[in-house]
Amino acid sequence: MEHHLTEDQRSIRDLARTIAEEKVKPVRARYDEENIFPRDIVEAMAKADLFRVFVPAAYEGLVEDGLGITNVCLVTEEISKACAGIALAFAGTALGVFPIVLFGSDEQKRRYLPGIAAGKQLAAFGLTEPMAGSDAGAIRTTARRDGKHYVLNGTKVFITNGGEADVYVVVALTQPERGARGASTFIVEKDTPGFSFGKKETKMGIHASVTRELIFDGARVPAENLLGREGTGFLVAMKTFDISRPGVAAQALGIACGALEETLKYVHHRQQFGQSVIHFQGIQWMLADMAIQIEAARTLVYALADRIDRGDTKDIGHVSAMAKVFASDVAMKVTTDAVQIFGGYGYMTDYPVEKMMRDAKITQIYEGTNQIQRNVIGAHLVKEAARLAG
Ligand SMILES: Cc1cc2nc3c(=O)[nH]c(=O)nc-3n(C[C@H](O)[C@H](O)[C@H](O)COP(=O)(O)OP(=O)(O)OC[C@H]3O[C@@H](n4cnc5c(N)ncnc54)[C@H](O)[C@@H]3O)c2cc1C
Repeated sequence: MEHHLTEDQRSIRDLARTIAEEKVKPVRARYDEENIFPRDIVEAMAKADLFRVFVPAAYEGLVEDGLGITNVCLVTEEISKACAGIALAFAGTALGVFPIVLFGSDEQKRRYLPGIAAGKQLAAFGLTEPMAGSDAGAIRTTARRDGKHYVLNGTKVFITNGGEADVYVVVALTQPERGARGASTFIVEKDTPGFSFGKKETKMGIHASVTRELIFDGARVPAENLLGREGTGFLVAMKTFDISRPGVAAQALGIACGALEETLKYVHHRQQFGQSVIHFQGIQWMLADMAIQIEAARTLVYALADRIDRGDTKDIGHVSAMAKVFASDVAMKVTTDAVQIFGGYGYMTDYPVEKMMRDAKITQIYEGTNQIQRNVIGAHLVKEAARLAG
């Protein structure tokens, strides 16, 4: 189904689609097998100006109006159709950039956004810690004011683009005694003294994405790198996730689309009982369900992204959560069915669907697990129930 897109959005989608076809597909299996970070793809995307699509025009980006969420979704979806791990160099950067766009001062934006828009610098967002995953309010990393600096101490885990990014947006406690209300957000440059990188994770999927520890051991961050005001760290994180979750949903959507495309090619050629397996009704019904779920997910993701781009972000949290849950559950179901339809060949690494199934799983986990998203939706419904009951 064709969704309404502006001419600019269509050309952004087409550029990403071309890169996915010509540059990503030929390397995805090797990058996955050898855990290669896709520097060459980042360069190709930068050349096509795709890192400008979430940066305001005033800071050398392409976004005249709104936040460019539809752009982010289109690019993420297209690259994820080919490889969701490779797409994360882009999507993880968008996640790191959103808090700067939403809460940064003009000076901070001038300093950090043009380099990212040009694709010369990548970004990352660091919230999760060993004892603070879903319970993000339990973070322990501290940021103590010392003259013209804040001194950061603590460890972040599972950070996408860790070690590869140049700009890190990090949440730390400026008033530990106030818990989550004492959290603040900082922009931390890669070469900050006292800031280093720890364990690189070995993962089930998205092998072309790097997931790594950030270690702050007396890292001295200039006071002007505080994002927004002290004490607003969780507001920054939650507002960021409200607009970044459509991107995770788009990644999931891309994985599901990629899996359906591969499956359609396969069932056309694969012969059993003297005919192509696509002629079995049992297979057609599975394909029909895959297509229905993908169309529904796309409609939800595009409608949400468009709503955010139109500035209608009030009370968006539960809708963002719905898109993320729905699209990621679709990705898991569609890729699992794709492997099933490929039969034994689907279980082998010769075809991309086994990788797609491994990659799909993460979309149900990160940026808030699907249980946490359902909690968000549930909390909204509790309020709604009270309103309806008067
Ligand atoms: C590959 C990868 C990349 C990541 N990238 C980043 C990144 O760039 N930046 C970043 O900050 N973080 C990142 N994360 C962290 C990610 O967001 C967390 O892993 C996720 O939020 C879950 O936290 P956890 O792993 O500690 O699980 P836990 O919070 O320990 O959850 C364990 C289980 O309990 C469930 N659970 C927890 N609380 C509740 C509840 N209240 N109700 C119902 N169920 C509950 C969870 O859903 C889960 O099933 C990444 C993680 C991975 C795996």
